[in-house]
Amino acid sequence: MGLRGLSISDESTFDFEPSQEWIRWPGTRYGQDSPHLQFAKTTKASRGKHGSSPVKPTRPSKIRKPKAASPVKKQPAQPSTTHGVIPKRDPPIHFLTLPPELRNRIYELIAVQHEPHYPQIRPVWELGKRMLSNDRCFPLEPSLAIVNHQLREEMLSIFYGCNRFAFKASEIEVLHDVRMTSPVLQKKWAIARPASQYLQQVELHVSAQRLSVDAMITIKLKKLPDGGVEITHDSEESGYCCCLEDEAVAEVLIEARGGNDLMRILQFLTAKRVAKLGRAGTRMSVGLFEFPANRCPNCQKHRLTLVGGG
Ligand SMILES: [Zn+2]
Repeated sequence: MGLRGLSISDESTFDFEPSQEWIRWPGTRYGQDSPHLQFAKTTKASRGKHGSSPVKPTRPSKIRKPKAASPVKKQPAQPSTTHGVIPKRDPPIHFLTLPPELRNRIYELIAVQHEPHYPQIRPVWELGKRMLSNDRCFPLEPSLAIVNHQLREEMLSIFYGCNRFAFKASEIEVLHDVRMTSPVLQKKWAIARPASQYLQQVELHVSAQRLSVDAMITIKLKKLPDGGVEITHDSEESGYCCCLEDEAVAEVLIEARGGNDLMRILQFLTAKRVAKLGRAGTRMSVGLFEFPANRCPNCQKHRLTLVGGG
């Protein structure tokens, strides 16, 4: 039976004598007479013969278009074998490590606006419930105020201290009963906003009319640098009688002597005005008081015919 793939049969004989080394297989490893070295020599010689084949006629080689100059490949940075001095990195900058002046500037950009805020307490109904569930206080405080205690104190001192807060009756018909000109709601708002202690300027806007002509009264309460409180109103500018406002302001300033809690003084003032308006005029249904269209006996100026309060 012949071996497959080789032209060797059982009767085949070899025309050489096997080396004595072969008998002691594997023989001298890589020795001078090692069979595999002999085999390697013969194959190398045969390859050399094939390599010296006659030169074939060459075809005209195709002219290859020159390749566009490939961008020089950046060699990967070789790891330096010498260890230089690594410059020490600056410590990371955290918001609270910034100078206070910079932090204040950021707070101002976030939370201070030119127009006044209009505080409100709005009833909120939960979906699917008929009963009033909760009241929500406005304006919303900046989100930065809930990060931590320090940020809260700094942020809210700017938010309440640098903005104006104007209390007035809502212009939305549904919220006509939720008038922030009422001392009860002002007190409720101040309790819900303990940080309102930072307030520096508070205003009371009340509607007024003179024979169907609208005239708004603005009363400003301002905390002074010496700790006192200043109350001004623009009734004089309207040219109408402002005796009632003057009296109310004078009495409140006397009663609030020593105190500078603007929300507390505002409640005093609002309650005082309501009491005076009720004595001098006729109370209407939506927090308005009506007066006869005559002149004031004290200042001889025309009286407003409709003044808001409470
Ligand atoms: Zn008057």
